[in-house]
Amino acid sequence: MMAQEFVLKQRTEILAAVCSSGSSEQLERLLDVLLAHGELSWEEYQSIQVQGRPLHANARHLLDIVYTKGLAICQLFVAALQQTIPEGPGARLCVSEGVSQVEKSREAHQTSGAALLSQRPSLVGKLQGCVDGALEVLHETGHFTSEDCNEVRLPIHTPSQQARRLLDLVSSKGELAANVVLQFIDQKQQSGRSSLTPPKEFFKYQKKLCSSVLAQSSFLSTYGGTSHMPLDDIYTEGQLELAADLEVQGNLGLGDIVSTAGIINEEADTVLVSGDAGSGKSTLLQRLHLLWARGTALSEFLLLFPFSCRKLNSELKELSVQDLLFRHCCWPDWEQEDIFRFILDHPHVVIFTFDGLDELKQSFSDEHRLCCPTQPAPVHVLLFNLLQGSLMKGVRKVVTSRSEAVGPILKKYLRKEVFLKGFSPNGIDCFVKKQHHDPAVAAKVLASIQANTFLLGLCHSPVLCWIVSQCHKELLGCGDGTPQTITDVYLMILQRFLQHQSSLKTSKGSDLDSCCVTEKDICTGFLIQSKDMSNDYSHQYEFLHLTVQCFFAALYIVLFNNADRSTITKLFALHDLRETGFSSTCFTSCLAADQRQTPGSADGQKSATLGEMSLQRHAEALQVHPTASGSKMAKEVLGKLDVDHLKLTYCNIGPVECTALAYVLQHLRNSVGIQLDNNSVGDVGVEQLLPCLHICNSLYLRNNNITDEGIRKLIAKGLQCDSFQKIALFNNKLTDACTEHFSHLLRTKQNFLSLRLGNNNITSEGAKQLAKGLEFNHSLRFLGLWGNKVGDAGAEAIAGALEGSKTLTWLSLVGNGVGSAGARALAKMIKSDTSLEELWLTENCITRHGVEFLLEALEHNTHVKSVWLRNNNLSVEEVEEMTQRESRLIF
Ligand code: ADP
Repeated sequence: MMAQEFVLKQRTEILAAVCSSGSSEQLERLLDVLLAHGELSWEEYQSIQVQGRPLHANARHLLDIVYTKGLAICQLFVAALQQTIPEGPGARLCVSEGVSQVEKSREAHQTSGAALLSQRPSLVGKLQGCVDGALEVLHETGHFTSEDCNEVRLPIHTPSQQARRLLDLVSSKGELAANVVLQFIDQKQQSGRSSLTPPKEFFKYQKKLCSSVLAQSSFLSTYGGTSHMPLDDIYTEGQLELAADLEVQGNLGLGDIVSTAGIINEEADTVLVSGDAGSGKSTLLQRLHLLWARGTALSEFLLLFPFSCRKLNSELKELSVQDLLFRHCCWPDWEQEDIFRFILDHPHVVIFTFDGLDELKQSFSDEHRLCCPTQPAPVHVLLFNLLQGSLMKGVRKVVTSRSEAVGPILKKYLRKEVFLKGFSPNGIDCFVKKQHHDPAVAAKVLASIQANTFLLGLCHSPVLCWIVSQCHKELLGCGDGTPQTITDVYLMILQRFLQHQSSLKTSKGSDLDSCCVTEKDICTGFLIQSKDMSNDYSHQYEFLHLTVQCFFAALYIVLFNNADRSTITKLFALHDLRETGFSSTCFTSCLAADQRQTPGSADGQKSATLGEMSLQRHAEALQVHPTASGSKMAKEVLGKLDVDHLKLTYCNIGPVECTALAYVLQHLRNSVGIQLDNNSVGDVGVEQLLPCLHICNSLYLRNNNITDEGIRKLIAKGLQCDSFQKIALFNNKLTDACTEHFSHLLRTKQNFLSLRLGNNNITSEGAKQLAKGLEFNHSLRFLGLWGNKVGDAGAEAIAGALEGSKTLTWLSLVGNGVGSAGARALAKMIKSDTSLEELWLTENCITRHGVEFLLEALEHNTHVKSVWLRNNNLSVEEVEEMTQRESRLIF
């Protein structure tokens, strides 16, 4: 396809690719290239880049100009598109001429003004991080007024936008101003290359920070804080995988987290380390901290500032970046301002780490922009701006999170993503040997783990490997049997906690008072004292691990809210709790109270109180803890069981919460609609929801990171559930591979009503598969495919399958690249007298020719109420004329 034809025909796709992020960055980068080549005049640029006009409108105007100016600019445009959005619609188009032009013209310039234009893309990059300095110089030399400076510094601008606004203003000020700014950038580049000259007190500060990081990272604390093992003695390499290059596996080391391998976005600073709960993300970060503090890793970074997102939650005051670094990590005893200035001037020698982004109360968003490092803001706003690079551009940030809690917005700002996959088989071996110094015990533990494939499977997760190996050690020690299920394992660890009296010191004034958790409760070992970099006498507590915490939450729900408690008692009967002291008595009485509670009986009353002390207080503490959403949500759900629609949108629901939800809901008698839009359910969460699918009539899972694999499992179960009739999966990660399953569903399930698959990646092939099911379906009323890529061939297949349908009333093929051939097939379907009432064809490329077919078909059909045709390839005159002829056509 020729470049010019491409710009016309792929208009919808190009617009979607340029505007989908909601940020004007892509559009501005394209404009940079077109300006640099002189293909776009300054006036044209200004007519496109209208501040305050919607991004889509600006992008459309650019496409209009590019198309009308002819082949050369179209070629350059496509080349620029390929450079800025490599995965975008132009990816496969061959326009090598355009690409080489992009390179060539960078060198050709004479005057400073011309250089400013021809080097614009690289100048934007170079200026980021030193806009303030450039403004200072321009102001001092009289080229910029204070108003000019303020306009550039507007906080709504990202760093790259600030750089562009600065260049725009300089262009309007003439040759001298252009010269000043070019010289400034040159000097900056040169001084960047020369050696660093830190302030006098810098090395003292660095030493203080190092020893603080060393102290915090040398020991891995587990088990109620009683066992502080040197990290060196227990650390076992986990398996790392690069998201960008799944081929390179296995041999990645810790250094690869900041190396150049697997970079997906050179301009971004943030590296994400993701993995399941318990896969060892915090431990890996701790290892990196330790190695940095010893000078054996990350030595290119002079300063490392470690943060825990869990702890940042308790920071309620507004802070500036300076406060965040100095107060939360390490206070410089002298020259605070000079040290901070050095950090600002040399971002590339600084690294921040943020452990557990998924534990932050707020979900990542890029709505609130902040650029000034001395301006105070709520801590989550600081954090989000740091990760996006609006704040402290150039400082490397490493952040850990459970994979399913990472949404598409954060992904846009990632330099690279590394998956932590837990232990390899060798890793399990190595870890167990490190845990048990007596080789005979280690060999026994390993043999018994290896004899049980289920337990061996669990041990790939480091936290479970630790729990399993700990339980085995005890059982082998006292000659008892081995645990068989994960519940056995958790019950054993619970038992151990209950028997265990820790010697932790607590003191007044901690969060615990507000949750009525006493010193005795702490001694049971459910909570451990958390480490706090800024305060040696930290009074903050956290649960041992998310997985243990979720178990407590689930146990609480079962014990205190579920009618059938006998099962749980039976589980505990497996282990002899009677022999132990205070804590087990408390726990046994809790179970006993459940069985013999008589209202008014003093005895029963007392036992019940003791029982609730054992678990309910911990469950309450779980609720004040940000990651205890499982417990909290399940309890909320329990209070609303009589509703017929359960709306839990934007609730941070991940797989763990899905487990709790399914557990509660499966006991419902009436079917309900479950609306879980905009969460992080993912494929794992979908699987967790399956036990409650039989009581679910409508399932809304819009924007939840679900792939074809999740759908496969969902449909397999859905086929067996009579009441399951509607599903909405807008904006997930579905491809043609899932359509085979939907096709099967449509063919087999003759009471299915609504299928909405908008904004996924379904092409004509997928549409053809769906059509195979639609042909045999006699129940579907709504079919939504908005924002896919079914094209003419897909529309033809679907229309063909729906000919004569007696049930479908609503069909959407908005934004699917449907042209006149598709319109013709849809017209034929309409003519076959279906039940269709609304047909949505907005944002396609249907021409007058296609609309004529629809007009003709409507003459024979009275059911259809509206056909939406906005934003197709029609002129104003054509639209006017056709509206006159048929009022049901809506333009
Ligand atoms: P995550 O942050 O992924 O939830 P953690 O790093 O907190 O997981 O790991 C949970 C527990 O698993 C740790 O307390 C430790 O006992 C064990 N563990 C995790 N990773 C390792 C490792 N690389 N070497 C040894 N033990 C580990």
